[in-house]
Amino acid sequence: MRVMAQMSMVMNLDKCIGCHTCSVTCKQAWTNRSGVEYVWFNNVESRPGQGYPRTYEDQDRWQGGWTRTRSGRLKPRAGGRIKKLLSIFANPKLPAMQDYYEPWTYDYEHLLTAPAGGTDTPVARPKSLLTGEDTKVTWSANWDDSLAGGNEIAAGDPVLRQLSDQVRQEYEKAFLFFLPRICEHCLNPSCAASCPSGAIYKRAEDGIVLVDQDRCRGWRMCVTGCPYKKIYFNHRTGKAEKCTFCFPRIEIGQPTICSETCVGRLRYLGLMLYDADRVGAAAAVKDEHDLYDAQRSVFLDPHDPEVVAAARAADIPDDWITAAQRSPIWDLIMKYEVALPLHPEYRTMPMVWYIPPLSPVVDILRDTGHDGEDLNNLFGAVDALRIPVDYLAGLFTAGDPGPVTGVLQRLAAMRAYQRRINLGEERDESLASTVGMTGQ
Ligand code: SF4
Ligand code: SF4
Repeated sequence: MRVMAQMSMVMNLDKCIGCHTCSVTCKQAWTNRSGVEYVWFNNVESRPGQGYPRTYEDQDRWQGGWTRTRSGRLKPRAGGRIKKLLSIFANPKLPAMQDYYEPWTYDYEHLLTAPAGGTDTPVARPKSLLTGEDTKVTWSANWDDSLAGGNEIAAGDPVLRQLSDQVRQEYEKAFLFFLPRICEHCLNPSCAASCPSGAIYKRAEDGIVLVDQDRCRGWRMCVTGCPYKKIYFNHRTGKAEKCTFCFPRIEIGQPTICSETCVGRLRYLGLMLYDADRVGAAAAVKDEHDLYDAQRSVFLDPHDPEVVAAARAADIPDDWITAAQRSPIWDLIMKYEVALPLHPEYRTMPMVWYIPPLSPVVDILRDTGHDGEDLNNLFGAVDALRIPVDYLAGLFTAGDPGPVTGVLQRLAAMRAYQRRINLGEERDESLASTVGMTGQ
């Protein structure tokens, strides 16, 4: 057993209101400079939607993450000697500026003298932050925001009550939620494996993945190699940059800026212990559906005396071991089993996990104040969830609906249990046992 420590995050998606405070405060701290105008180390995506940069999840197009060879070995899609050599002569597959979005500002100085738009509002033209010229904004990171799943219907007639029953039923299936994203600080980072200069490294003490600015030669293979597209190219310095998990703050015991400023208080930070010797085999399991369990299998129980002894032998300080024992991440992933990894099929073993949104339940709304928590109905009718289980499974479990359904049932049980307490009703211990959480 080779025990290592990893800084990690879990985000509870039911609580994200899409306010972008996290993105703005992160930008003010880290990318408020020329050369990285288009860069958001933290971005918040509308789902469903194309993401930022758009279509980043299409690895056939962008060549990110790892592939598993027939012999069962992993190789980075953007890696290999030949591809690295080729990168010297030709740029690897990179999203263009339009795929991120062309950053713009407004001509505030002349706002009041701008020509009127509509009847009485002056309209200042957006100006490109890159060229300073007037620009036409045709795409940006949250372009999908107000379309959600009902865009075709909404385009027809926006006045819901005037729609026919059939159309209204379709419209009611529309859903929208927000997915905040930072670098995953993966256990098996393909950005590092793709870099010809060896400039990307994973810190031994806490697993934070960083770019050594002195060693970076601007090949940009990491931009291709990261399947989450969370490394960016600074076109002023010619170097790659990425989320640093706010390590200067972490080192003095402060949370990341995105966590500290999150309006929904939905980001949980913590330290996980894991067995580094198991990572390679776990990332290479044959069936993509097994990757969720495989990643959980590398985490070590920090309460286990054998693990504690091995962690001390590996020079992990006692207060870090205590931090791992108190980590909300351990509880959410391993004890309560309500958090899931984003796209485990990329095989990078991401360390930012998500509690999927339970969302309102379309067919199970009741007059009792117990919305979406009738367990008997929920168990038989997960299809009635507003956000389809299959959609969530595509994000979190390589398309396997089983683990997602289990998580949603546990969340519904927790909500039902707490709601009864809030409404002054009797506690219903059977709710906990129904989802195997007795005594927790
Ligand atoms: Fe590297 Fe972060 Fe991308 Fe993982 S998410 S491959 S650590 S840049
Ligand atoms: Fe969501 Fe919190 Fe970011 Fe607001 S600050 S968008 S609630 S993650």
